Parts: sequence; C-alpha cells; structure tokens
Amino acid sequence: MDYYKVLDIPSDCDAMVIKRKFQHLARIHHPDKLPTTLSQAERAESLEHFQKIEEAWRVLSDEKLRNKFDAERAQGMNQQMPISEDVDLDTMEFDEEEKTYWHECRCSGRYEVLEEELENGVTLVGCTNCTLCIRLLYSLAPS
Ligand SMILES: [Zn+2]
Repeated sequence: MDYYKVLDIPSDCDAMVIKRKFQHLARIHHPDKLPTTLSQAERAESLEHFQKIEEAWRVLSDEKLRNKFDAERAQGMNQQMPISEDVDLDTMEFDEEEKTYWHECRCSGRYEVLEEELENGVTLVGCTNCTLCIRLLYSLAPS
C-alpha cells in the first residue's frame, strides 16, 4: 500500500502537510460522520478507507517509520521499472523494414521502439527478452 496515495499527497511533502491532509480526510471518512443515507456496503467501504487513512497517518507521522517506508517504497519502484541505462536515440540502430529503432540488451535480447511510439512520446522501452528497461533520450523533430 502506498500511504502517499492513500492520503493523496506528494511523497516529498513536509510533516505539516501530512497532518493537515490527514485531519481533513479523517473528518470526511470518520464512521461517525457518514451520511445516514449510505448503504451497508458503502459504509463498509468507507470504514475500510478510514482504516487505511489511519494506517497511513500512523506511519507517515512517525519520522522513523516514514524513513523506513520511503526506503522500501523507492526500492519497490525500482524493481518495477529497472532502468538499465539511458540511451540516446541517435546511437540506436534503425530497421528500415520494420520502422523500428533497436538497441541490444545485455541479455542479448533487444529494446525495440516503433517510430510512431516515439511520436507519442514514449521514453521507457522494455527488453523483449528480460525485465530490464532503457530510458530513451531524444527530442522530437519539429514537423
Ligand atoms: Zn534484456
């Protein structure tokens, strides 16, 4: 669970912002404050959300717990998107037939990106063979 998302705050915000946001959300979602028109299911859902907010607050309001959480979070994010290198588009091979730029991965697989993907502003390209990813460096030519 990403506590920053639960509280809907940026991960680099200071303690005061966290406190204000928590108080605001806790007021809205507190079980005693729910509108009486809510159904049983809506109540249960809201209660669950309230518990997440409290859990997020418990961790993020404690400097030690927050630091630990930040470290784990950063690690988790790197694991999802392991960027092996930054590659300049100019140094990539171009396959005329496939209209594809490619770069060899260290696993001997390939990073491949279509011309049209570049036009859509794609910057992260996964290897076709392993879980690594490269970040493309390029600027779009003015058309
Ligand atoms: Zn690879």
